[in-house]
Amino acid sequence: MAAELNPFKIAQRQLKIATDALGYDDSVYEALSEPKRLLTVSLTVKMDDGTFKTFKGFRCQYNDVRGPCKGGIRYHPEETVDTVKALAAWMTWKCAVVDIPLGGGKGGIICNPKEMSEAEIERLSRAYIHEVAVIIGPNKDIPAPDVYTNPQIMAWMMDEFSIMTGYNVPGVITGKPIELGGSLGRGDATARGCVYTTREAAKEIALDLNGATVAIQGFGNAGQHAASLMHGLHNSKIVAISDSRGGVVNLDGLEPHDAIAHKKKTGRVAGLPGTEEITNQALLEMDVDVLFPAALENVITQENAGNIKAKIVAEAANGPTTPEADVIMHKNGIFVIPDFLCNAGGVTVSYFETVQNTYNYYWDESEVHEKLNKKMTDAFHTVLAAAKKHNVHLRTAAYMVAVKRVVEAMKLRGWI
Ligand code: NAD
Repeated sequence: MAAELNPFKIAQRQLKIATDALGYDDSVYEALSEPKRLLTVSLTVKMDDGTFKTFKGFRCQYNDVRGPCKGGIRYHPEETVDTVKALAAWMTWKCAVVDIPLGGGKGGIICNPKEMSEAEIERLSRAYIHEVAVIIGPNKDIPAPDVYTNPQIMAWMMDEFSIMTGYNVPGVITGKPIELGGSLGRGDATARGCVYTTREAAKEIALDLNGATVAIQGFGNAGQHAASLMHGLHNSKIVAISDSRGGVVNLDGLEPHDAIAHKKKTGRVAGLPGTEEITNQALLEMDVDVLFPAALENVITQENAGNIKAKIVAEAANGPTTPEADVIMHKNGIFVIPDFLCNAGGVTVSYFETVQNTYNYYWDESEVHEKLNKKMTDAFHTVLAAAKKHNVHLRTAAYMVAVKRVVEAMKLRGWI
């Protein structure tokens, strides 16, 4: 991977910009620029054909000064330790920017779940928990879903941890099925948070979301719900969507319901009736009001940032934009809602799930939405005010708010 596209190097560069802007000396940057703990695991799993295959996995605990670590587990054939470290760093800033009492963590396994049976995925998931159990738990580190992991996988993981512990420990993991202590409203929480912050950004630039055009790169959990909610809550027009196999466009607007059903049935968005094909690259550069990068890292770089025409870029994905691209889009007047602010709805409702598990008392969905709306709206305006005060773009402002909270906690505990 080219050094400038290494997500962890990017996370470190973003942090340095923030610690410099905050006037901290190098010792603060050094204390925050590497994870506190990183565990590598080797998982040997019996495959359906009777052979054994060994997978590599990771769990990274970046910083837990404000509370137990929190962060998803990603299954991906191109997963790297540096991606896990970057995502764990961003989780630290994400929890701090929405002011929830959690630290940052992340996990991953190098595997291709698309080529594995359900039973193989279950055995791999249980093996992972076996190896990381020593460092996770409701008061230590609480995993959750991420790319190519889902509530069923969380259920197996919770079950495995509970078997090892000797009693039910629902609070060890979030994003569980509702029947096992999952929170109502967790399914669409990431996208809902993105849509709440997009609503506030639209007010700021006087953009009417009613009829506004929307393109979405990545049509998974975050992307599908973003389409439904932009359409359902704001009557916005979803004109393009994509997944790893390509994209589709219909400038008159496509129906999210139909697109989700088509993706479920065929495994791809390509071939959706009434649409034409578009590449992922062309989708990003479409002349739309709102662009949601909702797939993976490094899709907006210095190569294409100058071609982005959206008025708002709402980063549902983690790490979609490189620091060079940030500067270009800021110069071009594009309103970028940075990833760890924009997509913090997922971890916020995961936190609500932990709270409900601890109380063993569950809220109705409207209460979850109301509390999420308040958290996201407050965080957005705190960051916007910091951006205006310090005359920086929103990503640096979000870093300044989050890093300051983490540093204050570290000072109080005598860590720095
Ligand atoms: P998902 O696995 O449900 O969906 C990912 C989607 O991206 C799939 O449709 C896949 O086909 C598509 N994709 C993969 N590679 C692509 C490529 N090169 N070009 C275009 N599309 C591609 O994952 P998700 O949970 O929706 O996560 C998407 C992003 O959102 C990730 O960056 C993740 O870290 C971030 N995120 C997710 C959550 C959450 O709660 N699920 C929370 C915060 C952030």
